[in-house]
Amino acid sequence: MSGTFVGMPAFPKAAHEAVHDDTLRGNLRHATHTIRDKRARAVDELADFALLREAGKQIKDHTLRHLDRYLVQLEESVTAAGGTVHWAADADEANRIVADLVKATGQSEVVKVKSMATQEIGLNEALEAEGIAAYETDLAELIVQLGHDRPSHILVPAIHRNRGEIRDIFAREMGSWGRPAPDGLADSPAELAEAARLHLREKFLRAKVGISGANFMVAETGTLVVLESEGNGRMCLTLPETLISVVGIEKIVPTWRDLEVFLQTLPRSSTAERMNPYTTTWTGTTDGDGPTTFHLVLLDNGRTDTLADTVGRQALRCIRCSACLNVCPVYERAGGHAYGSVYPGPIGAILSPQLRGTASEIDASLPYASSLCGACYDVCPVAIDIPEVLVHLRERVVQGGEVTSGGAKVRLKPAKGHAAERAAMRAAGWAFARPAALRAGQRFASRTRRLHPRKLPGPGKAWSASRELPKVPAESFRDWWQRTNGGTTGKSPNSGTSGKGGAAK
Ligand code: SF4
Repeated sequence: MSGTFVGMPAFPKAAHEAVHDDTLRGNLRHATHTIRDKRARAVDELADFALLREAGKQIKDHTLRHLDRYLVQLEESVTAAGGTVHWAADADEANRIVADLVKATGQSEVVKVKSMATQEIGLNEALEAEGIAAYETDLAELIVQLGHDRPSHILVPAIHRNRGEIRDIFAREMGSWGRPAPDGLADSPAELAEAARLHLREKFLRAKVGISGANFMVAETGTLVVLESEGNGRMCLTLPETLISVVGIEKIVPTWRDLEVFLQTLPRSSTAERMNPYTTTWTGTTDGDGPTTFHLVLLDNGRTDTLADTVGRQALRCIRCSACLNVCPVYERAGGHAYGSVYPGPIGAILSPQLRGTASEIDASLPYASSLCGACYDVCPVAIDIPEVLVHLRERVVQGGEVTSGGAKVRLKPAKGHAAERAAMRAAGWAFARPAALRAGQRFASRTRRLHPRKLPGPGKAWSASRELPKVPAESFRDWWQRTNGGTTGKSPNSGTSGKGGAAK
């Protein structure tokens, strides 16, 4: 990205460094291309993948439409199974609930299975402020935590690191978090995995409190489901005495039968596996088996506001497979950090500005972090039309308008820095409402077309630096239609061929 397109102040700034970092771009290109190719082969194996995709979309849409009913059913089921349900309207409330629950156990450390919801609310930092240490146990999350870094991918949070960098992080940092890395640690995957295994085992055996997210929650039974590849998550979910799960309210499905669809589409879309290596399900508590205390914190944090938007709500269908990231040409070059959120890539570009609103510079710029090529929509296993939502959010950023915030209707002001876009749209709106003016303008543009500049001046300069300006035809469609009686007579001035059938030209 070489310039600043009208309306893209923050994302390009954040992405600027990334696109000039050759190591980062190399790491990302290698990883995303490998995963995307494998995913395509895994999906092609299923003759009914399109049907599964449609089924996933419909299950999610149905659930979102009746979310109030299913959430109440879920609470009843979890409670009946021996768990306790807490409702958190926002990040602060969720963090406070979790910190109080941990403190009530008398513990000052917890182990965590990878959870995007807890990253979204900044739980680790909130716990640290309360004197509670939270240890990530997913391998990639461990790398991010030891490296004092931020995740940059939904599935592979340390995708921006190569093996040499990981070896250096382990050798340098493990000792100050627990068991140090073995002397002379090399950068082979086997040695790195073994170092992580030894480091984490100590934590698993000591921890009395585990914190997790969930991929799905089943309303009819109160069951939570976590899919992961390493087995570390299962240790977190089964070994501690107390388990606290923080889950976004949109992760609910009505029945066990619905899982059948997602347990086929999610592994193939995310890790290109036919079946997930570790799928853990738990329902409340069971005497003599697993945690003796279970708490479920249901997190809203902008989700019901998103649900109120009839176009944008489809983002809540997301099952966090990361397929859209791996095919996105913008993500591949800019990396995940540029999105300024735990949700990077195409899904982040539509989810973050809805969960957080578009008031900040970064959130107002995210709907522009896309080429609108549509590759994300093609691979999405729940058919989220990401380009449609991006355009919808761009309109919100430029025009403002009515949105739901904190459950109330509010009128948004247009974001700063979009004056040129607004003026252009206003001019277009004015002309389209006046056919005579539009016709005169089209004729004028046709007659002066040889004088048109090849590049736009001013705020449009960056846009036309990497694009060809469309050529204005010698005759407008309206004039051509009138002259040829809809293509039945006369000749096109451009082609010189018969006008017959030319309406499609
Ligand atoms: S938007 Fe679709 S493709 Fe992207 S992470 Fe979510 S489910 Fe996967």
